Amino acid sequence: MRPARALIDLSALRHNYRLAKRLSGCRALAVVKANAYGHGALECAAALADEADGFAVSAIEEALELREAGHRQPIVLLEGWFEASELGLICRHDLWPVIHHHGQLQDLEQADIARPLHVWLKLDSGMHRTGFSPAEYPHIWRQLQASAKVAELTSITHFSRADEPETGRTEQQLDVFRQATSGLQGNTSLCNSAGVLAWPQAHGNWVRPGIMLYGATPFAFAQPQAADLRPVMQLDSRVIAVHQIGPGEPVGYGSRFTTRRASRLGLVAMGYADGYPRHAVDGTPVLVDGQRTALVGRVSMDMLTVDLTDLPASGLGSHVRLWGTGLDAGEVASHAGTISYQLFCNLNRVPRHYQ
Ligand code: PLP
Repeated sequence: MRPARALIDLSALRHNYRLAKRLSGCRALAVVKANAYGHGALECAAALADEADGFAVSAIEEALELREAGHRQPIVLLEGWFEASELGLICRHDLWPVIHHHGQLQDLEQADIARPLHVWLKLDSGMHRTGFSPAEYPHIWRQLQASAKVAELTSITHFSRADEPETGRTEQQLDVFRQATSGLQGNTSLCNSAGVLAWPQAHGNWVRPGIMLYGATPFAFAQPQAADLRPVMQLDSRVIAVHQIGPGEPVGYGSRFTTRRASRLGLVAMGYADGYPRHAVDGTPVLVDGQRTALVGRVSMDMLTVDLTDLPASGLGSHVRLWGTGLDAGEVASHAGTISYQLFCNLNRVPRHYQ
């Protein structure tokens, strides 16, 4: 069998969820959209079933998968992405939709639903992706509060730069949120992982941690609370061939890398078809038998090459860690011009083993 695999540590997931609860002191939706950021939504939801206050997904299909697996907690449809004709389905399965544009207000009023819904009303506090403007928000809130189609209302907004505390943007969004919701009675939800970790003044009644559940930090700097996170995924493989080549020799597609010295190169069973980023540059860190070394040459579909020259004890069959404990996925991502979220979500073909 091919040695590439992702080990998923569900006890680390529980640890990270508890950290979100402890830091926020409020109810926490475990964000398990996009197949739990590539970690397996059903397995992750099952691991959190006894303690999660609720789950958050993006699409109805993802929510139905959780309901079919027997999860009875609240499920919030974060993206508010549904057709009017699906409101009956949303009601039958007790899903909590995010409402963020005018058409949905009409759809809700006209919906033929058996009982009123828990609605999360989105405020655009400055990200300008989804949500009602601060000027119209209080009016729409009161309209929904009076509606027979609504059982309970939660104000939701989303921060665009909570991972960059020095920019001042989160304080601005928080001010906008406070003003727009002032005097409105109901629950509030503002925080993603960066908010949970770094913005205690914004925690509200419900937080929405995603990436931190999977043990990756949303910050590009050493943030003290994030130091307690435990990586959930170990992306591992092995060296499947070793080559000795001289100096000045090109390596891999496009001859992107040229050896500067006599080199021992290890071929690793991991490529972009597995989700390893093709844009990873020469020098991207890799652990071989627990020691740091570097990717050299372009990542191929099924293979990549690492420099073993300074690791004489390593060779054929050596253990290779692409990310996980000892090698933060965010650091790897930064060498490929992306973020850990995308690395996890892109995981493909590699079998997941749960422990
Ligand atoms: N809330 C909303 C509305 C989101 O779109 C997301 C993620 O995309 C999250 C929460 C979770 O964010 P993070 O993974 O940064 O914690």
